[in-house]
Amino acid sequence: MPIDATLPYDSDNIFARILRGEIPARKVYEDEHALAFHDINPAAPVHILVIPKGAYVSWDDFSARATDDEIAGFIRAVGHIAREHDLVAPGYRLLANVGGHAGQEVPHLHVHLFGGRPLGPMLA
Ligand code: IMP
Repeated sequence: MPIDATLPYDSDNIFARILRGEIPARKVYEDEHALAFHDINPAAPVHILVIPKGAYVSWDDFSARATDDEIAGFIRAVGHIAREHDLVAPGYRLLANVGGHAGQEVPHLHVHLFGGRPLGPMLA
């Protein structure tokens, strides 16, 4: 069931629990601003989720409330992870679902990083 991205942050969501170390994740990167781990149900050979460490429901919430330092740190982390996985030359895709029409399921901002094969045209 997609979330309502206008609701307040729910600190019991699954990615908040991964950040607190309460449930396991296959981590690929961590710094002061971001954590990245493999998606549990990968849609491509590389399917990594990158999340900010702060409590933000969605890209909308993050872009409205996060500090410039958090935003810069998060965006730099996404780029670093793509380079570390040698995705720049072949190419990759970033995707952030926001709320109902996009089908966002987890109410903590996450950017999907897809790569490892030609990804086809964008949907919609
Ligand atoms: P959304 O539809 O953009 O919210 O994407 C949520 C993503 O989180 C989906 O691709 C799920 O496969 C993924 N996911 C859900 N639970 C876990 C987990 O515990 N570990 C890693 N990925 C997860």
